[in-house]
Amino acid sequence: MRPDIPTLLHDIFGFPGFRGVQEQVVGRVMDGQATLAIMPTGAGKSLCYQLPSVALEGCCVVISPLIALMHDQLRAAQAVGIRAASLTSVDADWRETQERLRGGDLDLLYVAPERASGEGFRSLLRSAKIALFAIDEAHCVSEWGHDFRPDYRLLRPLLDEFAAVPRLALTATADAHTREDILVQLGIPREGMVIAGFDRPNIRYAVHARDGLPRQLADLAAANPGPGIVYAQTRAATEKLADGLARTGRAVRVYHAGLDPQVRAANQAAFIASEDMVMVATIAFGMGIDKPDVRFVAHAGLPKSIEGYYQESGRAGRDGEPAQAHLYWGAEDFARARQRIAELDPTRQQGERARIAALGALVETGTCRRAILLRHFGESPPATCGNCDNCMSPPASIDATQTAQKFLSAVYRTGQSFGAGHIESVLTGAATDKIRDRGHDRISVYGIVEGDETALLRPVSRALLVRDALETTEHGGLMLGPNARPILRGEEEVRIVLPPRRERRKRSARNG
Ligand code: ADP
Ligand code: ZN
Repeated sequence: MRPDIPTLLHDIFGFPGFRGVQEQVVGRVMDGQATLAIMPTGAGKSLCYQLPSVALEGCCVVISPLIALMHDQLRAAQAVGIRAASLTSVDADWRETQERLRGGDLDLLYVAPERASGEGFRSLLRSAKIALFAIDEAHCVSEWGHDFRPDYRLLRPLLDEFAAVPRLALTATADAHTREDILVQLGIPREGMVIAGFDRPNIRYAVHARDGLPRQLADLAAANPGPGIVYAQTRAATEKLADGLARTGRAVRVYHAGLDPQVRAANQAAFIASEDMVMVATIAFGMGIDKPDVRFVAHAGLPKSIEGYYQESGRAGRDGEPAQAHLYWGAEDFARARQRIAELDPTRQQGERARIAALGALVETGTCRRAILLRHFGESPPATCGNCDNCMSPPASIDATQTAQKFLSAVYRTGQSFGAGHIESVLTGAATDKIRDRGHDRISVYGIVEGDETALLRPVSRALLVRDALETTEHGGLMLGPNARPILRGEEEVRIVLPPRRERRKRSARNG
């Protein structure tokens, strides 16, 4: 007889009911049906296998990519009385765990993919009763995903040997390609896919061009007294930005892989306990951390992908209260990302380029940011959300195609080796030594930009870099990229979103 699921939900987890698609997913699992659950961060994925692990006879094997993540979940499961263990390189109680598994004394067993796919583990499972395979972070199985782990590919023979055991794949981050791939790789039928809505209506999204980042972050922190996370790209950057924020008097800690593990753990604990702290961290921070009252997440530079951005910014406002996500970007982020892609194996370049293009669309748009995010995850959201920067103050946009053409011509005529600063000087007719020495005051584009158009040069060069109409050379100069031609020929329009008036005023006040 099927145990009373609502009673278990209440008695073990203390929840009054299911949230969203949890009920559907748990129902499928209890019926023994293979399932791919796509649920955003914070939607409560763990419950989808933890509850069946208690309700079903036998042990639920959870495949999870990170030991730290496993141990967090293990502790949480044990805390509510679930009989849970893990088999990892840092566990000392292997023998005991194996005996408990064989003896039917375990509800949940966490294991890493490389261990799960091995013959030793398979023969162990043959001597036990297995109720469910849960494959966490299932996007790791796909080369299309942003976090491909070859070991996930080796799971299929294990799943197929225990064909009668239902399988449940879980992920927060899957675009259409990755979804298809997970279904195929893990042998889950199309009708087994359950997708939760990705919208996080309480998060307000905003995107800014970087322009004096330390001050931008200080302003953000001053306007948001609650706990916040700032993601920076490098360890050095976390330290530097944290110093800057600390000087404003804010409680600040840092988190990155270069810190002593004890310091890292202490900083994390302090952040979780705090009501006003800002954690400045690399993306090593956050996975598996349960702090529902994070009020803002800021990205100091371009994230790796839309998926990554959604997941990281999704750490804000898990309590459902208003929260903010701010992204600060610069054209050099795109240049750097493209350089990294060029060094990759050619088979991976196409996927990575698509990822960068999707980020370009997010930061450059004058339309609803939420709509762009949700469309990326296959949803059909309304055109406006009323809770992002563009919806709240629709930016003016102008046709800057002519300025873009002038800029590209100047890059071309100066020999495709100078940086944006020099190109701007040439176009505005500056009288610098460099220009005279190179004879750049004698070319046709010298001084052809004047008046208001001057203010467009920076945003135009940024837009051209984002679109791959400009590329950076090894030495940091600019050269024409693959998408320059249609713009030069007038076949493609370049529209520029102007910064909101408030920011423009602030900036000119500061300069003046
Ligand atoms: P995910 O892994 O999808 O990011 P978690 O499994 O960590 O999410 O759950 C996120 C939070 O939601 C946790 O604090 C969890 O206790 C809570 N939660 C999960 N399911 C429910 C529910 N049905 N009712 C209330 N809270 C829930
Ligand atoms: Zn919007």
